[in-house]
Amino acid sequence: MYDVAIIGGGPAGSTAATILARAGRRVVVLEREKFPRFHIGESLLPFSTQTFDRLGVREKLDRAFLPKFGGEIMAASGVRGVKFYFKDGFQSQRDRAYQVTRSEFDKLLLDHSREIGAEVREETEVKSMDFADDGVKIDIVDSAGARSTIACRYLLDCSGRQTLLGSFFKLKKTYDHLQKFSVFAHYEKVERLPGRDATLIRMVRGLDRWFWLIPLTEARTSVGVVMDTATFRAAKLSPEAALEKFIAEQPIMAERMKDATRVSEVYSAGDYSYRNATLHGDRWLLAGDAAGFIDPVFSSGVFLAIMSAEKAADTIDEALRDEHKRSRLFRKYSRSVNRIMDIYLTFVNAWYRRGKEFLEVFLNPTDTMQIAAAVNAVLAGNEGRQFAIKWRMWVFYFFVSAQRFFAFCPRLAIDTAEKVPSPQPAGATS
Ligand SMILES: Cc1cc2nc3c(=O)[nH]c(=O)nc-3n(C[C@H](O)[C@H](O)[C@H](O)COP(=O)(O)OP(=O)(O)OC[C@H]3O[C@@H](n4cnc5c(N)ncnc54)[C@H](O)[C@@H]3O)c2cc1C
Repeated sequence: MYDVAIIGGGPAGSTAATILARAGRRVVVLEREKFPRFHIGESLLPFSTQTFDRLGVREKLDRAFLPKFGGEIMAASGVRGVKFYFKDGFQSQRDRAYQVTRSEFDKLLLDHSREIGAEVREETEVKSMDFADDGVKIDIVDSAGARSTIACRYLLDCSGRQTLLGSFFKLKKTYDHLQKFSVFAHYEKVERLPGRDATLIRMVRGLDRWFWLIPLTEARTSVGVVMDTATFRAAKLSPEAALEKFIAEQPIMAERMKDATRVSEVYSAGDYSYRNATLHGDRWLLAGDAAGFIDPVFSSGVFLAIMSAEKAADTIDEALRDEHKRSRLFRKYSRSVNRIMDIYLTFVNAWYRRGKEFLEVFLNPTDTMQIAAAVNAVLAGNEGRQFAIKWRMWVFYFFVSAQRFFAFCPRLAIDTAEKVPSPQPAGATS
């Protein structure tokens, strides 16, 4: 009988495994794939650093991956862009995150959890579960096709967008307004900014799509484009042809990639924003993407995965110490993770629903009342617990909504196809 079985060895699963193994729990990770394996989600947020310290992987990460000091968002028309640095966030204590090749990052974290004492079974797929009052039985199949059953007191689902338990209990609720499609690949010889700006995630925002450029190593850059699923379908193109066409059509992207060569296959992902109606049951918790996923635009996925896995591991550890507290602890866990996911959902809604106004306000940061610093802090992964951040975010959203009617900030042509409403200084990246 294991204390805890974890489905999935991605960042959520390995984080929880390390914390539980450190706490002396008998923990097993069941991972379908053999690592390293490709995964998307390459740009991290600074607020995961405190968890990396707790796991004891900070030095390994420093050695293996490029730092990320902030980002740049540019209107697709090219008339305006803005760079932000995590050091300038509201009461910032962390100036950097990492840009990671996920195959290596996920393997590093999973190997680490094994070193700390978790049992890790790769190429082991969870097929079904049987829940009883005192534990869970899990049917697994290994790479040779052999089936077996293991038993645990608690089950933590970190199966990612597979959402194993969410599907099992029919809990999954998709966000219809966020049904997006993205195509992406790795390239070499993509133009980089000089100096430390070479580490920034760079985004180019058009009216109906946005692009990312994420430097992964000195040579390699991840490039992707996100649009409505309906827009992708209407293009009637394969992912390869679509990525090539969308890049070629976008002048800033075409310029930055004029010498670039694709060095990976083209991947795609669609219809990915959802949340499960509840994040816990009597004997189980959901963490990471298995709990919910909110659009990739602000690179919050791995941060949310690691944050929720850390909370889930602590919650289960406490429940193992005192079973009577379980129900209260599990409810508290769900509330807290849902609250943080809501912060990003509000942000993402503003980005898509008020896209133009969002960009007009975002690309004109002022020091007034430190609003830009608060937005920057949330972009870094600050949960916005402090009232000082909350009210500044409310003011930011107020400006984004009101910008529609009052133009507090200069009007912008976002897309090349759009007419510039008023003359703007050309080429200004502030
Ligand atoms: C287009 C796109 C771009 C993104 N960009 C970013 C970004 O820049 N930054 C960022 O932070 N996030 C980004 N994300 C989100 C990020 O990919 C995820 O949030 C993150 O990987 C979640 O980690 P996880 O551990 O919860 O799940 P995963 O990393 O998906 O791990 C789940 C694991 O569970 C295993 N598994 C699944 N089913 C089973 C089973 N039945 N049995 C055993 N094992 C199983 C899988 O093999 C997998 O290894 C992006 C997502 C998309 C779709």
